[in-house]
Amino acid sequence: MDSRLLLGMQGTASEIGHISVDINGPRCECGNYGCLELYCSTPVILQRAKQEFPEIFDNNTHTRTDDYNLIFNAARNKNEDALKLMKQVAKYIAYGCVTLINAYNPDIIVIGDVLAQAGDILLPIIRETVAKRTIPELFSEVEIKFSALPIDPTLYGAAAIATDKVLTRPSDYLTSTAGKGGE
Ligand SMILES: [Zn+2]
Repeated sequence: MDSRLLLGMQGTASEIGHISVDINGPRCECGNYGCLELYCSTPVILQRAKQEFPEIFDNNTHTRTDDYNLIFNAARNKNEDALKLMKQVAKYIAYGCVTLINAYNPDIIVIGDVLAQAGDILLPIIRETVAKRTIPELFSEVEIKFSALPIDPTLYGAAAIATDKVLTRPSDYLTSTAGKGGE
């Protein structure tokens, strides 16, 4: 927010995965019910795909990315179960975006992690759903896009936070050396 990370008092601000999208939904480990991440997080997508259309997976050892690409490619190849799952995921991501837009009025929402590789499938549905559920003046000013960063952008974020902390008050990190007289 205003070019700075919005951390909140204890550093847990913007835990959007725990926005409730169904107050009567299943219990989440956070204590709430029907949290967004129970419907469209990557572990849930993989779990559902393995239950609902296991035939796309083989017994070879895969990386995490490979498994998701099997799901995304099945949807691209018109596998009906895979398409249905991806459409549901896109809708739930959209519901989360609507809440973000109403709460923060952002100029951009960037969706990352492994789902960014399925932007071609997800983005049209996300935009259409968000457009139907937000005030037009707000929707027209917000850009929704998928991250172009490589997988695991969390590591980039962690490095950025650490770098920012050092650069904000470099003297905090130099005193121990300076105190030893340059040893
Ligand atoms: Zn939760």
